[in-house]
Amino acid sequence: MSGHYDLIAIGGGSGGIATANRAARYGAKCAVIEAGPLGGTCVNVGCVPKKIFWNAAAIQHSMEMAPEYGFRPLHGAFQWPALKTARDAYIQRLNERYGVGLMDNGVELLHGHGRFVDARHIAVHGKTYSADHIVIATGSRPIVPAIPGAEWGITSDGFFALEQQPKCVAVVGAGYIAVELAGVLKGLGSEVSLLMRRSHFLDSFDPMLREVLMDAMLRSGVNMLTRRQVTAARKDAQGLTLVFSDGEALSGLDSIIWAIGRAPNSGELDLAKAGVLTDSAAYIPTDDYQNTNVPGIYAIGDVTPRPALTPVAIAAGRRLADRLFGGMNDRRLDYALIPTVVFSHPPIGTIGLTEDQAREHHGDDGVKVYRTQFTPMLHAFSADPGKTAMKLVTVGREEKIVGLHIIGEGADEMLQGFAVALRMGATKRDFDDTIAIHPTSAEELVTMR
Ligand code: FAD
Ligand code: NDP
Repeated sequence: MSGHYDLIAIGGGSGGIATANRAARYGAKCAVIEAGPLGGTCVNVGCVPKKIFWNAAAIQHSMEMAPEYGFRPLHGAFQWPALKTARDAYIQRLNERYGVGLMDNGVELLHGHGRFVDARHIAVHGKTYSADHIVIATGSRPIVPAIPGAEWGITSDGFFALEQQPKCVAVVGAGYIAVELAGVLKGLGSEVSLLMRRSHFLDSFDPMLREVLMDAMLRSGVNMLTRRQVTAARKDAQGLTLVFSDGEALSGLDSIIWAIGRAPNSGELDLAKAGVLTDSAAYIPTDDYQNTNVPGIYAIGDVTPRPALTPVAIAAGRRLADRLFGGMNDRRLDYALIPTVVFSHPPIGTIGLTEDQAREHHGDDGVKVYRTQFTPMLHAFSADPGKTAMKLVTVGREEKIVGLHIIGEGADEMLQGFAVALRMGATKRDFDDTIAIHPTSAEELVTMR
């Protein structure tokens, strides 16, 4: 036996680190087991490197717009390796900062792969550790399709490792990652095809958002290949090729990116030895308090079937620590009204029910929808201006706002404050009574008729 702890978190990503740090601040003796670099997906191959590339693409868009504002054309040739070097150095600083944070809180870091020995013991590198409370926070990994030649493609992990900018890329998928990476690559000057199975992407989002984004991406020159089922990939002298179920093919690619979803990291934990159950997709289900089916074992973040977002993993972990060690017996994360942003070009900010969901839950008569679409002042001089679109979904006579959807420049930064308002139960009247800030795009949200 190599040590006993009040709490062990398996996984040193967003959720595991947040849980252990919070618990340690209450005086609990804690350890984090991490097999890779600290910070997990978000810091190393997720939110952080993605946002840096998104920023770079946004700078490129501004340079393209500069002549409209009286600047001489700016021709800054983008140097992918230079940005990657700066990005990697930034991430390394974040890795170190997480290590220092754990140390400052007295949390021990156990390097290696953790596996259950039983419901109280975990083995790491031949040593066994025990804990009263064990938090599974092992996250998820990208899915690679089970088709011939899939190995010729990379996932988002491989995208972030690219040393050179791909010139001609196919992104396969229809979720957050497909849309974000296609937008970034196009913005930075690659030739991009986006392939999806349906006629649209972002299936679970309000249709207004995906229609406006589809139009913007088409106008930016992304080659949208809808209703395509990829059946194989291959490599020959001309480069990489994708083959579709109808026999057609897309050739001459130098990169294929699979962005078809993620799977939970639950298979290599020896969960059966602890008696922890998973669902049919290998996620670890929990009750409202993050309890698994085994007392003293909890699960948070992407390994659970909850929204796979960093702030969700962090919030679930901190609330769990508050409950276990902070004397807040009823503390738990309320999974309703989680705001989320898709870092597309332009970005999407969305919270609450889509229009269709509201009609399904409350009936057509109980729902009133407000929408607006306009050219933001930023594009005032553009011959082909991008659009901003907004929708408020309200229910009942008091017009309580249950859904708020924005696409357009600044949507990513607009949403947070409105999310507070929705959580507080804001009505359309509350929005109407709020003085607008002029001239902004956000003011449209409080002046809709
Ligand atoms: P992770 O952060 O993945 O951490 C799990 C950790 O556990 C990993 O470090 C892993 O190495 C470790 N591990 C796994 N098994 C073991 C084991 N047996 N023993 C020891 N260690 C183990 N979310 C947002 O909110 N905003 C964004 O903009 C955003 N962008 C994203 C972009 C991309 C490309 C991707 C892939 C994800 C993005 N996400 C974003 C999602 C976000 O990254 C995840 O929701 C978040 O990282 C989940 O945190 P977690 O703690 O559950 O898992
Ligand atoms: P998503 O679950 O968002 O989307 C994957 C999509 O790919 C599916 O919805 C499906 O769409 C499509 N798909 C599935 N299988 C296939 C297939 N065989 N061939 C073609 N298309 C397929 O997964 P992502 O990997 O994009 O992202 C994972 C999660 O990470 C997100 O859900 C999000 O929670 C998080 N994330 C958050 C970000 C943010 O906050 N900005 C950014 C990136 C990720 P369809 O059924 O329509 O075909």
